[in-house]
Amino acid sequence: MQQIQGIAVSPGLAIGEALIIDNEGFRFPQHLVVPAAAENEVRRFSDALDEVAVDIQANRDSVTEQLGEQYGAIFAAHLSLLADPKLRADIEGRIRDRQYSAEYAVSRTLRSYADHFLKLDNAYLAERVHDIYDLERRLLQNLTGHRREELEHLDAPVVVLAHNLTPGETVHLNRRFVLGFATEIGGAGGHTAIVAQGMEIPAVVGIGRFLTEVSGGDTVIVDGDEGVVILRPDAETLQQYRVRLEQRREAAERLRSLRDLPAETCDGVRISLLANIEFPHETSACLDRGADGIGLYRTEFLYVGAKSEPTEEDHFQAYSEVVRAMDGRPVVIRTLDLGADKMGSIPVNVEEDRNPFLGLRSIRLALSNLQLFRPQLRAILRASALGDVRVMFPLITTLDELLRAKELLGEAMQELESAGIAFNPEIPVGIMVESPAAAILIDRFVREVDFLSIGTNDLIQYTLAVDRGNPAVNDLYQASDPAVLRLIQRTLQEADQSGVEASLCGQMSSEPTYTMLLLGLGLRRLSVAPSSIPEIKKICRKVTIPQCRAIAARALEMQRPRDIDAFLKAEQQKIESLPENGS
Ligand code: PEP
Ligand code: MG
Repeated sequence: MQQIQGIAVSPGLAIGEALIIDNEGFRFPQHLVVPAAAENEVRRFSDALDEVAVDIQANRDSVTEQLGEQYGAIFAAHLSLLADPKLRADIEGRIRDRQYSAEYAVSRTLRSYADHFLKLDNAYLAERVHDIYDLERRLLQNLTGHRREELEHLDAPVVVLAHNLTPGETVHLNRRFVLGFATEIGGAGGHTAIVAQGMEIPAVVGIGRFLTEVSGGDTVIVDGDEGVVILRPDAETLQQYRVRLEQRREAAERLRSLRDLPAETCDGVRISLLANIEFPHETSACLDRGADGIGLYRTEFLYVGAKSEPTEEDHFQAYSEVVRAMDGRPVVIRTLDLGADKMGSIPVNVEEDRNPFLGLRSIRLALSNLQLFRPQLRAILRASALGDVRVMFPLITTLDELLRAKELLGEAMQELESAGIAFNPEIPVGIMVESPAAAILIDRFVREVDFLSIGTNDLIQYTLAVDRGNPAVNDLYQASDPAVLRLIQRTLQEADQSGVEASLCGQMSSEPTYTMLLLGLGLRRLSVAPSSIPEIKKICRKVTIPQCRAIAARALEMQRPRDIDAFLKAEQQKIESLPENGS
């Protein structure tokens, strides 16, 4: 048994068989396989060999056709190596006799061939070593590529272990069979983490190198509450986790009874609990948990999850589905927040970006790609004729950006009006406050908007200069950092004074530890992951606003995030045993 620590990003427990995938070129996911799996590995290797040979033949034919025979002959060395029975026998021997995985056997065999070439002291042959490396790369790419495809054809439950999963890959995980996942890289604020939480898949990220320690088919536990992954748990540990799994199920069942009760504090203050979603189908989970509306619809996932570029009609269909499902409740549609770690498979005009979180992302990308932005604005307006739709612009840092976005919205209104298409001309317009610039100048921004929503995921990274997806600086990525708390406090005070409705839709609001603090800072609207609604509601129903104000005042005086977190956890524990409002 081996226990490793990572970053807990999506709560819940998963116990199951490991499916190991990897996409890092030369890195292979596992060294050894259990003896019973050897024949399967031989088959995987053999298929890879055949497929790579077909690919190389196709390359040879096309080069021959375009440039002539002598160029096509460049591929002859690769093809004769692939057809060499000794190569095949050596690799299959390593799989069968030493229980190497197909990837490991390919790599060890070809590396040993390469060593021989290099020792021959012949410049020509030493150059040929690149052919061997190239062949190794092709075979490994084929083998690991098929591992990723396995994800799409699962027919039994697995726990996915990977070097990395992009937000786009996470979106496509099959919730029925993927019990949980763990990755070597990734940070607490990354969108992979956010998607996992939205999909309610327990997840741990940022573990560091561990895939070489585990074999496909091993039993593993992913503890998304504590950020722990256990490889090959012993019987006692397995039993403890099974009990915890059952306890979690029972607790979730108890929380279901809160569904139809309001999130009202003991002193009668009604809190709006809205939900964050990425896809229209998530509205059923929101309604199931009794959400008061959608506080953040991350529309860029239309791109991240798609194979072709969405049209205005695609946008409109998706928005209409959400608005209809929410049946009169508010739906805040955030305009495209593409870029950085949310690139999607559709090419947008982003040059190689050395610093993507500071580059052409979000509203900047939208304002410089009007062919993307205009159809979306039209679609949002059209959806506004169907219910309580509000439009929100992300990552606003300058007033000019906001004014330009509003101008484009006005132009879209005029187009629709001329075409006789219905929309709500009074559609509320809001911004996300997720840059320090927006929070510092919030007194100016509030004059231009109907509402705002604080995006702490980005506000933390930009305030503290810490990449939200980088596990190496995860310790600094703290929602409770006093600098972040001051910006939240300032934003809420200004919003209150100017009568602008404020909410908070970063992950911070899904964390029960921060609920009392946020209510104490003046927040009355929280937009959270749908799965967090019952737990947050339970807390709202146990506290009073003066009690929360006192907690916030104390937290604001403290210096260190870890002291603030410890204090807030202790306060949360104190109310754990209290009766709820009205009971
Ligand atoms: C945020 O930054 O807090 C936010 C909600 O936006 P996203 O996580 O999509 O960047
Ligand atoms: Mg953001």
